[in-house]
Amino acid sequence: MGLIETFAEKAIASGAYQPLDKVYVANKVRALVGDQDGDVQAGRSIAEQLVDLSIENGQTEREILNEQLFDLLTPTPSAVNARFWQEYQRSPEAATGWFYQLCTENDYVKVAAIKKNVEFTRQVKDGNELEITINLSKPEKDPKAIAAAAHDTAKKYPQCALCIENEGYLGRLGQAARSNHRVIRMMIGGKGWGFQYSPYAYFHEHCIFLDLQHEPMKIDQQTLVNLVEIEKTLPHYFVGSNADLPIVGGSMLAHEHYQGGRHTFPMMKAPIKQELTFKDYPQVKAGIVDWPMSDIRLETTDQLALINLGTHIMKTWNDYSDPALSIVATGQDGTRHHTVTPIMHREGETFVLDLVLRDNNTSDEYPLGIFHPHEKLWHIKKENIGLIEVMGRAILPARLKVELEEVKKFWLNEDNQIAPAHLPWAQEVAARRDIMSANVEAVLEEELAQVFSDVLEDAGVFKRTDEGDAGWQRFIKQL
Ligand SMILES: [Zn+2]
Repeated sequence: MGLIETFAEKAIASGAYQPLDKVYVANKVRALVGDQDGDVQAGRSIAEQLVDLSIENGQTEREILNEQLFDLLTPTPSAVNARFWQEYQRSPEAATGWFYQLCTENDYVKVAAIKKNVEFTRQVKDGNELEITINLSKPEKDPKAIAAAAHDTAKKYPQCALCIENEGYLGRLGQAARSNHRVIRMMIGGKGWGFQYSPYAYFHEHCIFLDLQHEPMKIDQQTLVNLVEIEKTLPHYFVGSNADLPIVGGSMLAHEHYQGGRHTFPMMKAPIKQELTFKDYPQVKAGIVDWPMSDIRLETTDQLALINLGTHIMKTWNDYSDPALSIVATGQDGTRHHTVTPIMHREGETFVLDLVLRDNNTSDEYPLGIFHPHEKLWHIKKENIGLIEVMGRAILPARLKVELEEVKKFWLNEDNQIAPAHLPWAQEVAARRDIMSANVEAVLEEELAQVFSDVLEDAGVFKRTDEGDAGWQRFIKQL
């Protein structure tokens, strides 16, 4: 049996087609890869071999073709949605378990690429255990694609990478191939939303909830209502939103979306350092979290109280200034500078809401942001501190994989090409630690985790100092 026929058999076995459809499906494959069949080689996936075959047959777009082939193994969106909610009758875990498996088996979630990422956990000085990842799975953007996108002034289709119009979209330069992409529809806060997985996951079952309409990010009371509804629907997942302002937000402010998944982050394990009481909300357990960023945690089974108290704290913060600490709510031109990164998860019947206070002001001293990693740390992390990192999981750029090898050689007094940007840090570490080949990897991991802890400290509005503590007390009084 040739490659094409073998793949057609797979499509039928997946349930997307019936045995009677075999000739038809084989012809769909021929339409993609050309008529000339090839032999099956053991040890490689059929789809990968078909993509090679198509290149021999004169095709050029590997990724588009790969996703088109896997689309043939994937039920239609309506069938996927029907099955998801059928599984949901058994349990929310059964539904997400089934859907996640589908999205890995059809190569939408890039499991093999994700496995290449560097990942470790290390304790830092304050006792927290931080998670460090170096992301090697996201493909480098093709410079041609970037250039093409830059000159593309026409109204785009799909309008952005999160729009529902990506479901089944073929792909082109500057827009990812999504033939095998499927989205679960759900009602959240009275509006239609989509639920999908992230193809280049940053943690287990990393998912995205997206507004079916292309609307800008907005954090307000409705956000908390939506997070509660998601937690009621999928209580085994956390859900959180990036902030809705530049510098302190994510990379996608143009389309309302949240991120979630099945992972317990370091911040969720951090203890309360000061309990807070709100006389109108005796049913809510509240406190300041012992964490480098400035986090107020609310815990209760009372959803309405959680939403109302959370909204009160967000509104108070949005109007709160403390010039002594460079905390300024509104610019002279009326620009809003304050928002929060809200994150929710469940502990049994209890809803736990973390509200991380954000301020996106810049200054002459800190042109990229006062509460953003400072220049000393840019050799490791210069990008925005988004919701995943807020919770203590670093997503570091791929360049570090190679650069840090040179840092290790420098520490071991071997020939090296250490980047000048890493040198002051590498020298400072070398001066206070005894580094040899037996411990160089451990030293690197510990020191990277400590840098990440400092990154989070820079992003915190109330520092963990006497001055910062006094600032917390002034803010709490306003609540
Ligand atoms: Zn969009």
